[in-house]
Amino acid sequence: THTHTHTHTHTHTLTCDLNIMNSWSPEALVRKSQEARNQAYCPYSKFRVGAAVLASNGTVFTGCNVENACYTAGLCAERTAICKAVSEGHTSFKAIAIASDLEDRFISPCGACRQFMREFGSQWDVYLSKSDGSYKLMTVEELLPCSFGPEDLRTGENCWQFKTVIQMKL
Ligand SMILES: [Zn+2]
Repeated sequence: THTHTHTHTHTHTLTCDLNIMNSWSPEALVRKSQEARNQAYCPYSKFRVGAAVLASNGTVFTGCNVENACYTAGLCAERTAICKAVSEGHTSFKAIAIASDLEDRFISPCGACRQFMREFGSQWDVYLSKSDGSYKLMTVEELLPCSFGPEDLRTGENCWQFKTVIQMKL
């Protein structure tokens, strides 16, 4: 649905659900990431990046890179989008699209963002796009093979050190 109601005071009503994609397409998700790219706050690198992450229920969360005068405090577009989703209660994702102004190369997520995506599973889709909207599809697993994730932190019976301690006590 695409209901966008304005009153004469220009306040959005609760029927404004522009970010729900009931039937989504990679092209539409890439377009959302391009729209987010237009909000990039990148006065230092001048390298605009946008991302749009599609939650399993069809909600889309967008993000842009947000740089900072203290350079290392800056945040990538992908992590901005994922943080927005998680903070709204979404941790299950179908896909994320990433956009930049690069014309001849598909924008590729940095290592930190790959790890950030992987937290929420390895088998979901990443659309790396060029500025003309063309894209390349990769999975999180392909972008970050042999990864370390939440499953690896499980303690108890599956934990080698835990087993060793138990055996020593026996
Ligand atoms: Zn990144």
